[in-house]
Amino acid sequence: MAMIAPETSDWMRQALDARNHGRTEFARGVFHAIRLDGGITLGASDLHAAEVARAAEAWNESIGTKVFRVVRGGDPDLQVRAVSVLEGDDQGEVDTDLELPGADHYRLTGGISICGLDHGVPLTADEFTAVVVHELGHVLGLDDCSNGSGAMGDYDAAHLALRPSADEVSLVKSIRAEMLLQILSSTSAR
Ligand SMILES: [Zn+2]
Repeated sequence: MAMIAPETSDWMRQALDARNHGRTEFARGVFHAIRLDGGITLGASDLHAAEVARAAEAWNESIGTKVFRVVRGGDPDLQVRAVSVLEGDDQGEVDTDLELPGADHYRLTGGISICGLDHGVPLTADEFTAVVVHELGHVLGLDDCSNGSGAMGDYDAAHLALRPSADEVSLVKSIRAEMLLQILSSTSAR
């Protein structure tokens, strides 16, 4: 079963609380940010640009919105990096910060680290893509789900998830739909 990440639930609670206390600007900013309305740009080295683009496209197609865009150079919101080791023997890791200068204006910054080796052996293109799909699921607000069969399950080279499951897609969509409702009601409550 797909699950919402605790941080995402926290942000949603904070936003609702802010709205209920008349801090509409802050609430709107958070709502837009959780929905990733502005889209997220991803940077990647030439070496892994194809895998990152494939993972981004898997999510974009599945949820029917162009949430992720891979850019070359410039200053992307999130930089995807390949590293040779991660703490806890993890295959991937997301480290993001949400900057909220004002309503309708936010920026997600940080990076996604992918361990390019699995037990000392370099990941194949499919394996690398599957790890990026998983980490992008976190960016979209999903939690790990060790007993799930979708992209948010434990990394298993024998059962790669190159796309999110229907369950995961519908949870991401419902997070976004929920936030849209809240934005509308906070606008009309003004
Ligand atoms: Zn994870």
